[in-house]
Amino acid sequence: MQEKAHKSEREKDVGVYVHVPFCARICPYCDFAVEPAPELLRDPAAEVFRDREDRTVSALIAELEARRPDFAGRRLSTLYFGGGTPGLLRADSLARLREAVGSAFPPLPKAESESGAAVEVTLEVNPSTLERDRLKAFAEQAGINRLSVGVQSFDDSTLKALGRAHRVDEIHRTLRAARAAGFENLSVDLMFAVLHQTPAMLEADLQAILAFGPEHVSTYELVHEPGTPFGRAAEAGQLDPFDEDGAADMLLRIESVLGGAGYERYELTNFAQPGRASRHNQRYWARQPVLAIGPGAHSTDPAGPGRPFGRRVGNEKSWSLWLERIEAGGALAPGTEEILDAGQARSEAFFLGLRTRAGVSAEDIQAEFGGRPRSFYPEAIERMVGAGLMVESVEGDLALTARGRLLADEVAAAFVAAEAPAR
Ligand code: SF4
Repeated sequence: MQEKAHKSEREKDVGVYVHVPFCARICPYCDFAVEPAPELLRDPAAEVFRDREDRTVSALIAELEARRPDFAGRRLSTLYFGGGTPGLLRADSLARLREAVGSAFPPLPKAESESGAAVEVTLEVNPSTLERDRLKAFAEQAGINRLSVGVQSFDDSTLKALGRAHRVDEIHRTLRAARAAGFENLSVDLMFAVLHQTPAMLEADLQAILAFGPEHVSTYELVHEPGTPFGRAAEAGQLDPFDEDGAADMLLRIESVLGGAGYERYELTNFAQPGRASRHNQRYWARQPVLAIGPGAHSTDPAGPGRPFGRRVGNEKSWSLWLERIEAGGALAPGTEEILDAGQARSEAFFLGLRTRAGVSAEDIQAEFGGRPRSFYPEAIERMVGAGLMVESVEGDLALTARGRLLADEVAAAFVAAEAPAR
């Protein structure tokens, strides 16, 4: 079967992800690339942090300059400041980064953007006084037009057990301040299946969310990642895993409550009011190019010479090593590199596409890989449809059923396994 050019070749835009690793204190479940900045707890204007901040911003810009040729000719659709806690940066630092990204890539014309904003610019913030006081400047100086707030829970005992630095009153103050600063596109993070959390506690969290009415809700099941304090405690038998059925029931309840209030479950764990799905995150599920800079960041490079199905580049995770290498040579921090082959790209197209409400389009698969879904995975599709995990339209489009959404990992594994013998 003839392989066609990678889908990203038909697209002319790019998303940029900027990883800012600093956190005033590190949560015991965190598995991200983070760098403690405890000086901020004592003094928000700490000179030592100012130096680390300025060097990090300069290194991020140097990395952007070094990496941009791989994305040449593309227009900027989304910019996402994630972390870590990027809200700990000063507004002028974020403005420097915004300007550098804007100089590297011209904006996508408004007319081509579904949300009406030419570029969706998201900033992750945590509920803290330091960040709250800067919200207006973030919008005015750095052009941030979407905030993602690390709420996690509206229950103080849960926040304490999670080792979070904030409490519920800070959440309310931050959400109110965000609206007062003019943010009309707000997302909140909600954790579930957390330690001692009961269904009644989840219900209270959901009602608190509805009372505020953010445009977007991202949900996360607490995972005891190996190597984290929670992971080590779980390994030592000091922390019990959350009951699997209980966690699945909670996700169903989240869908039911948010769905009843008009939020669409547009991806397995993401909910949005109409037209407010995260443009940036959708790029990952659609396998569209994302240039990611900063420690631990992972890029999805478009197709190019010698890589017809694109490339994945992973950065060094340690902030100090990442910084040292860039400052030493002004070049890229070496990390991991994976050139995708047709089989990997194809299985990803299926299992990432199935995470979304829209599912997998047979026409897109035909255009990119030169065949209909059944021509690649007849057995997996037959089995998943037969088991009631997936539905197939007469055209061959595929989507998960409600049961399939509960067992999405099993469905994903079927497509990966189907490619495995071919390698
Ligand atoms: S605030 Fe977020 S990124 Fe920072 S340590 Fe906690 S979980 Fe990790």
